Amino acid sequence: MAGATLIDGKAMAARLTETIKTKTAALSEHGITPGLAVVIVGEDSASQVYVRNKKRTAEACGFLSVQHSVDKDCSQDELLELIRTLNDDADIHGILVQLPIPDHLDATLVTQSVLPAKDVDGFHYENIGKLTAGNLAGTFVPCTPAGCMLMIEEQLGLDLSGLDAVIIGRSIIVGKPMASLLLAANATVTICHSRTKDLPQVARRADILVAAVGRPNMVKGDWIKPGAVVIDVGINRIDITVDGEAKSKLTGDVQFDEAVHIAAAITPVPGGVGPMTIAMLMANTLRSAERTQESV
Ligand code: NAD
Repeated sequence: MAGATLIDGKAMAARLTETIKTKTAALSEHGITPGLAVVIVGEDSASQVYVRNKKRTAEACGFLSVQHSVDKDCSQDELLELIRTLNDDADIHGILVQLPIPDHLDATLVTQSVLPAKDVDGFHYENIGKLTAGNLAGTFVPCTPAGCMLMIEEQLGLDLSGLDAVIIGRSIIVGKPMASLLLAANATVTICHSRTKDLPQVARRADILVAAVGRPNMVKGDWIKPGAVVIDVGINRIDITVDGEAKSKLTGDVQFDEAVHIAAAITPVPGGVGPMTIAMLMANTLRSAERTQESV
């Protein structure tokens, strides 16, 4: 095989962001500027990078972009009070609390305290319930699987009838919502996880393989069905040596150099799912702001 099509998440995200910019400008003419509030607790370096990228993209879209940096030792009550204030703020249409948060805080309590109407991450149980019920129009789809789905649709179209999809990973952020989306598009879906027996054999059934594990290069070339569409969600920082010098680089969950010769299409890491996740956050925030206009 000549080599897979590279699914360019960066370019796709840039196109999406342009559309969001245009729609934001149109909405602003009606006096509504989408507002996104990002709450970060503590100083986790990866989280700082993610939050900076989200803020930069929100500003580029023409949003009101607000960042709340909270001390790592803040109390549960202080954090909940901040979320309450943002829930009540009419200028804010989307609230996200960057995860992970320090262990002394209850992440579930925090994500469930965000008003469902402003839950642009799609983590509130009300929104998860709607997604699971197939009410995609009435919910906020979590950003990472939403981005993956757009990339899959670009390769295979909107109707995935007759296709086998295998997701590796069952997290509430990626694996489970991904399954709901693929099911809604008529794929036959299998979710694998750390207790799945003979994972390579299950993976080999997949016309669409989504890897969301967090283990560098776990999915080998011979796990992939020839002609499959492979979506690599994993972001893993690994140590490498370049000219005798210790460095680090980002890598996915899929052994890319093997998979690229077998798959029909594959997302690179970096430059695949990551940029699409941020673009979908912007799309959800715009949608939230548009809903406030529809309700007046
Ligand atoms: P998680 O730790 O919550 O879930 C990992 C899942 O992998 C679990 O369901 C677990 O059962 C499964 N798993 C672990 N070991 C396994 C094994 N040996 N075989 C099969 N399954 C196994 O992680 P998550 O939040 O879903 O994230 C997964 C990866 O995706 C991470 O690398 C994360 O950094 C990345 N991620 C990327 C984006 C993005 O925007 N690109 C967004 C979210 C997460």
